[in-house]
Amino acid sequence: MERDLLGKSVVITGASSGIGRAAALAFARAGARVALAARRAGPLDEAAQACRHAGAEAMAIPTDVTDPDAVARLAQAVERAFDGIDIWINNAGTGVFGAFDQADLALHRRTIEVNLLGSMHGAAAVLPLFRRQGHGILINNISMGAWAPVPFAAAYTASKFGLRGFSASLRQELGDQPGIHVCAVFPAVVDTPGFVHGANVSGRRIDPGLLLYAPEDVAETFVALARKPKDEVAVGWPARALQLAYALAPAPTEHAMGAFLRMALRRASPALRQEGSLLAPQPEGVDASGGWRDAKGLPSARTLSRVVGVAVLAGAALLLGSRVAARTRR
Ligand code: NDP
Repeated sequence: MERDLLGKSVVITGASSGIGRAAALAFARAGARVALAARRAGPLDEAAQACRHAGAEAMAIPTDVTDPDAVARLAQAVERAFDGIDIWINNAGTGVFGAFDQADLALHRRTIEVNLLGSMHGAAAVLPLFRRQGHGILINNISMGAWAPVPFAAAYTASKFGLRGFSASLRQELGDQPGIHVCAVFPAVVDTPGFVHGANVSGRRIDPGLLLYAPEDVAETFVALARKPKDEVAVGWPARALQLAYALAPAPTEHAMGAFLRMALRRASPALRQEGSLLAPQPEGVDASGGWRDAKGLPSARTLSRVVGVAVLAGAALLLGSRVAARTRR
């Protein structure tokens, strides 16, 4: 049965930019009340304002998810203001790009603290409330990098593999609570400011490629899960393709991904090393989009895949048609 989101109370971490910001607006448009958390107060206020323009009740609560007490205070403030919490989305995340031994350990540690521990802090803050209410939906935004290890992103991969395991364990523990759901989302590559916010110690420019999903694609998936919870959902066929490849042929997949990334790094233009916004928030990157599709003149991967799919089907139909016509003439 699909749930109506009108008046539902939703907490979204990492809502000051990227997927979280797109999700805030998507839930606001669906009639939910939204509480937005991240470190940067200014962009959070702007995101909350945009949600109010869409007709929703919205709160901005600056929170660092690495601080469990701050996350507990976030949950208490939202519970008081909205008289409960129906949906909690652990979305805040970051990462380090480059060879593991080229980055300061503090950056790797912070990646784990935000992506894995930050999500655990969210779960610890909201699950007791879900149990008291007898209902609630916890959505963890993970990554296709939790289905197949990504080279030059070792701490990110470790954090997301950990988060996938954490989500599955929780789901089993809560198996006797039919009103409580734990959903895991595995997006392919998404056009967000995340590539600027992450640290880059590779000495090379990052290029996220051509198949870029829109942050709104992930936001729509969150909304669909809030209406009809599912255990695990991919955003984009590359995520499922990678999951399948790694499940069926782990060693060749690892080998191919390592070789591909090493070659891409050799070919990329040089860039300065940067710590991104891991240790302290940065003013850059406040929109949902990272601007990559615009800069490259590309449609979203969803649109591109549909166009290519239709073109392949049309080509196959034409080929078949011409063969049948040729046989009929003979
Ligand atoms: P963004 O950098 O745009 O979003 C990350 C959000 O997390 C920001 O709002 C940031 O805000 C917040 N954040 C970072 N550190 C903290 C912290 N310590 N406490 C609270 N909030 C924090 O990137 P994305 O939108 O891409 O990332 C969102 C999620 O999506 C991440 O979990 C990422 O791993 C995941 N994902 C992204 C993919 C992609 O290709 N872009 C693919 C698959 C998954 P602030 O700096 O204000 O705190």
